[in-house]
Amino acid sequence: MIGPDDVGGVHIKYLYHCRRQLWLYLRGIRPEHLSATVQLGEAVHDTSYTRNTPVDLGAAKLDFIDGQHWVHEVKSSTRTTPADQAQGRHYCHRLYLVGIDAQGTVLHYPKTRRTQRHPYTPEAADQALADIADVLAVATASTSPDRLTRTACRGCSFTDYCWTE
Ligand code: SF4
Repeated sequence: MIGPDDVGGVHIKYLYHCRRQLWLYLRGIRPEHLSATVQLGEAVHDTSYTRNTPVDLGAAKLDFIDGQHWVHEVKSSTRTTPADQAQGRHYCHRLYLVGIDAQGTVLHYPKTRRTQRHPYTPEAADQALADIADVLAVATASTSPDRLTRTACRGCSFTDYCWTE
């Protein structure tokens, strides 16, 4: 079972998108490679901001960090989601653990040419810790959390698993 140090950006993303998705992912069920949505995200990512270097923090890999210690993340969607913001908080937390005082996250949305800045406040730091605790709680649950509504599941790569009777 995973511990706090193993929690990465994908876990946080799934926590906010769907706890059932997180539970399945933690058990090795990972159909993402079949997902056109993920492939599109990777394509957008690969063709955007190519001058910058990803940062590998072990369980968490962030797109890049600038000289003022802002974490930059490139997203394939058109608008921000709570999951995007939570991932950013998580990366700031990870940087804090290795001695880098992150200022916050800059979320880039190339499709709409928008950016959003989310400072890493004390409240954000508390929430980052709470998110890790939530991931670990899902990890230890003996049964899978309930499905979302069918509408909310649209585009999810786990649809076959959850909805094929
Ligand atoms: S199909 Fe729906 S319930 Fe299943 S993991 Fe995806 S979002 Fe969650």
